Amino acid sequence: MEMAIVVRWRRTVEALAEAAEAAGRDPATVRLVAVSKRHPAAAVAALHAVGQTVFGENYVQEARAKMAALPPSIAWHLVGHLQTNKVRQAVGAFAVIHTVDSVRLAHALQEEARRQDCVQSILVQVNLAREEQKSGVLEEDLPVLVETVLAAPNLAWQGLMLMPPFFDDPQRARPYFARLRQLRDHLEARWGVRLPELSMGMSGDFAAAIAEGATLVRIGTRIFGERS
Ligand SMILES: *Cc1c(COP(=O)(O)O)cnc(C)c1O
Repeated sequence: MEMAIVVRWRRTVEALAEAAEAAGRDPATVRLVAVSKRHPAAAVAALHAVGQTVFGENYVQEARAKMAALPPSIAWHLVGHLQTNKVRQAVGAFAVIHTVDSVRLAHALQEEARRQDCVQSILVQVNLAREEQKSGVLEEDLPVLVETVLAAPNLAWQGLMLMPPFFDDPQRARPYFARLRQLRDHLEARWGVRLPELSMGMSGDFAAAIAEGATLVRIGTRIFGERS
């Protein structure tokens, strides 16, 4: 008998594929980031054993402990806010850092990546709804952050990340997903860069996000259950 968590993961993978097909997209263009924060390394190991390779974590320390306990074939993504004093432990450890939202953080990441002689993949997190309690760069502060990131030889900028306001009805989040895609298209044209990744959509609203072009969908609760 399969573990409950594996059953929920399988159903989630199927639901993502169905949402992609309903949107006329190739399911292979939507990647699942299984957000394992506050769940044990054993749960990650169980999903890795059945084929999940990308896991998302919010806290650098917690993630580093799991990395040390699990095979190097797992790709870890940092989806939580990154403090500049944690940059040293984050660079090189995470395949992608989704939450770059300030010039100061971008500078710190560049400096550490240069020191480690590596190239760190990043996304820029945007606070479209201007929610004070949320991280993410405000749209008017984007140009200077973009200039900083593009001038950083050790940062590989791959796209945008969004945490929309919470709504009970996921369809109400959809305009934010659409705006993130439009913003991406605008930045690509304005700066002459390719930004293929849109990190958006969680347990409650992934179908709306996929309909609007999400390529990295961050799902925790739907797979792992409630966090303690
Ligand atoms: C916790 C978290 C998720 C997963 O949310 P669920 O609602 O549990 O699917 C996704 N993205 C970020 C940034 C998170 O902090």
